Amino acid sequence: MNFGWTDEELTFRKRVTDFLDANWDRRRIAGGAATEEGSRTASTEDFSKVLAEHGWLTMAWPKEYGGEGASYMGQMIFKEEATIRGAPTGGMGAHMVGPMMMIHGTEEQKREHLPKIANAEVIWCQGFSEPGSGSDLASLQTRATRDGDDFVINGQKIWTSGAQSADYIHVLTRTDADAPKHRGISYFMVDMKTPGITIRPLVQMHGAAGFNETFFEDVRVPAKNMFGEENRGWYVATTLLDFERSGVDRMATTQNALDPLLAHAKQPDSAGEGRRIVENDPYRHKLAETAVELEVSRYLSYRVTWMQSRGLVPNYESSISKVHSTELLQKNARRGINMLGLAGALKPESKHAVMGGLYCQIYMQTTSRTLGGGTSEIQRNIIATRGLGLPRG
Ligand SMILES: Cc1cc2nc3c(=O)[nH]c(=O)nc-3n(C[C@H](O)[C@H](O)[C@H](O)COP(=O)(O)OP(=O)(O)OC[C@H]3O[C@@H](n4cnc5c(N)ncnc54)[C@H](O)[C@@H]3O)c2cc1C
Repeated sequence: MNFGWTDEELTFRKRVTDFLDANWDRRRIAGGAATEEGSRTASTEDFSKVLAEHGWLTMAWPKEYGGEGASYMGQMIFKEEATIRGAPTGGMGAHMVGPMMMIHGTEEQKREHLPKIANAEVIWCQGFSEPGSGSDLASLQTRATRDGDDFVINGQKIWTSGAQSADYIHVLTRTDADAPKHRGISYFMVDMKTPGITIRPLVQMHGAAGFNETFFEDVRVPAKNMFGEENRGWYVATTLLDFERSGVDRMATTQNALDPLLAHAKQPDSAGEGRRIVENDPYRHKLAETAVELEVSRYLSYRVTWMQSRGLVPNYESSISKVHSTELLQKNARRGINMLGLAGALKPESKHAVMGGLYCQIYMQTTSRTLGGGTSEIQRNIIATRGLGLPRG
């Protein structure tokens, strides 16, 4: 077994880190969305375009679709280093929709949409969950009815992350109400400017409105916008979910959170801000524990990418990585907020906040990470049945 990197990969990692360190101020992701504290670069959107010019957002894609034809490991190295620094990595288009489209899209869909994703020109959002359909996603009720060359969509989605700023939504609909629930679903892409789409933001406990309710009222979508075959959309969606649960970014987000906590723990108390870790301090062991678990998380993520690079399709392996990395994000948040004491729970607005209220934000934002992309219980069900061969419960 070889856990090492090739010379080429080591050189590429150095190129990426040198570039990011020279051109991007590290930002704290707070376990979810990046906080806008950078100064050297204008915005996440502008920097995405710079990274796209380097070909890094979608470097493992074939050249004809806007990629570089590079290795999956290279793609992962970029994503890991960018996430550690809170830099953009291409979002849902680059990491979920594009890879799914590469497998299930028509040639016309690929030629039209993949280069736009590679060039960071478009933002995608995901219309899967509904008020009554989350873990049991196949019970979804949003209808799409054929009308000539179009389908007409009616229904409601919920928890649509980033719908306010998205250009396209990929959406699951029911096209055969009489078929068994997994066999009556069709999958479409819809331009968010299409008449009949209404977006209503949902404000979360940390104050941001990252989620939305998305309503569809007689939304007309051309039949050519369907992914895969009519009533077979479920099987296309599971490909996308495998990509959603893969990825090094959750692990790297913990690194993004742990680095400043360690820096803080090394500062002397007299500086006012720091909480110097002393001999026999129980938090020494807690920080060490996080470091151990972070290494485990790192190798679980690497394994998923390695499988993809070999043409294998990670399935329960992605679930293992997702459970471990998201639960670690929460453990790190709990350990951090406890270590910082009462003031660690204060919001950034408070003048008494420690570390600018970062761990308060991290604590609140990471609560959702074991839900999004499929809950930990659902991942454990997948690991139990597909990984361990246990009967369905
Ligand atoms: C940060 C975040 C981002 C999200 N972004 C999007 C998005 O962009 N687009 C989108 O479509 N959705 C999105 N979601 C929704 C997400 O996919 C759902 O929240 C998730 O699938 C769970 O569904 P639910 O909330 O309806 O909970 P439910 O399915 O109602 O589950 C409630 C509880 O019951 C447990 N449970 C349910 N079924 C089982 C079972 N069979 N065995 C054991 N336990 C079970 C669950 O684990 C959970 O603890 C997002 C959610 C979060 C938190």
